[in-house]
Amino acid sequence: MKVMKFGGTSVGKPQRMKEVATLITADKEKKIVVLSALSGTTNALVEISELLAANDRQAARQHIDNLEAHYHHFVGDLLTEISIINKAKKVLAEHFEFLSIILKISFSEALNKDILAQGELLSTKLFSLYLEEKGIPHKLIPALDFMTLDTQDEPQVGTIKVKLAQILQKNKDTDIFITQGYISRNAKGEVDNLKRGGSDYTASLVAAAINASVCEIWTDIDGMHNNDPRVVKTTRPIEQMSFEEAAELAYFGAKILHPASIWPAQFYNVPVRLLNTMDPSAKGTLITEDAGSTGVKAVAAKDNITAIKVKSSRMLLAYGFLRKVFEVFEKYRTSIDMITTSEVAVSVTIDSDIYLKEITKELEAFGIVEIDANQSIVSIVGNEITDTKEIMHKLFESIKAIPVRMVSYGGSRHNISLLIPRSYKEQTLQELNKGLFHLD
Ligand code: ASP
Ligand code: MG
Repeated sequence: MKVMKFGGTSVGKPQRMKEVATLITADKEKKIVVLSALSGTTNALVEISELLAANDRQAARQHIDNLEAHYHHFVGDLLTEISIINKAKKVLAEHFEFLSIILKISFSEALNKDILAQGELLSTKLFSLYLEEKGIPHKLIPALDFMTLDTQDEPQVGTIKVKLAQILQKNKDTDIFITQGYISRNAKGEVDNLKRGGSDYTASLVAAAINASVCEIWTDIDGMHNNDPRVVKTTRPIEQMSFEEAAELAYFGAKILHPASIWPAQFYNVPVRLLNTMDPSAKGTLITEDAGSTGVKAVAAKDNITAIKVKSSRMLLAYGFLRKVFEVFEKYRTSIDMITTSEVAVSVTIDSDIYLKEITKELEAFGIVEIDANQSIVSIVGNEITDTKEIMHKLFESIKAIPVRMVSYGGSRHNISLLIPRSYKEQTLQELNKGLFHLD
């Protein structure tokens, strides 16, 4: 049995959704198909929710109406049989009625989660109706019946496995299951989600839970590329990489895959394949335990990074200093990405400055604190890259003109990270494309 996940753009147009139906019927293997919301829907729902929170009901109403009109058009282009169209209209009525009702009640975090869930509920129901029209046997299984979070808001593969196994057991004759990405129930039983972009995570958790033969992630690009296609002219897809490499790339900026989606596949050893809905025969990228090759595979950049330096002569020959510094970040639940130390100073980077003021204040007890906002981390990722000959020479030769603020080497054998001012990101990625990949 395999898992096939289709992202927002892959279901975002009626024609695309029809192509998804072709893709899921192309082979006979049993499968669970995970769908995102139609592209743009979750953003619209976030906006509606924010307007409600700000008590701007009129603007929220306008957004709901626009969204509803969009879905009516969509249904008109997707379906042809009157009886099925009527069923689709009922689905739209039900969900947009819900959105109308929320305009009358007071905003809460639980309500916000309910609003955000509408996108995936709609996309899967409409897709299921399209399959019905085409006479393609399948079963729609609600993610809210098996995707659960624990009290720490973390999904547990073990629990999902038990619940999903019961559902599959009851539907032994079904070959195609359809379910929602992103949405889940929390420990209180309320509707919740796996955070933005979380459908990939759903797919990987489901794949781990059923011990899938493969977890296919279908998007609108032919796999993970060696560099950011939005910044450099020539990039190429990577044929194969390890879970470790994929995790580094996903975390450090490659937008194609949600970073959390790596661990379930890795832990349960399910191969992940990144594929392109627009070009289904393209090889894409295979992610397995095996990296396939050594050496530099890709570079990626992550923006909105803040660097914090704590300088203290008390650090000289002292022990326990770093623990105290780290405890401050732990207290404010702020994770650290890069760390470099000298004998009298430590520099760290964070990607969330929500508690920057509080953190700075507490760190000032240990020494002089310097903050550099608006930085980017550029990561150079590759299997055993730190054992690759000449890598540092080539790397620094390529970026001679870039003022590098921090370098992280040796933390993992698969990653070298540089911290640079955000304004040098484009130039850095372009120079690395020439210097490391010989691409323009
Ligand atoms: N629809 C959700 C989002 O846009 C989840 C996803 O697409 O992965 O964030
Ligand atoms: Mg996505």
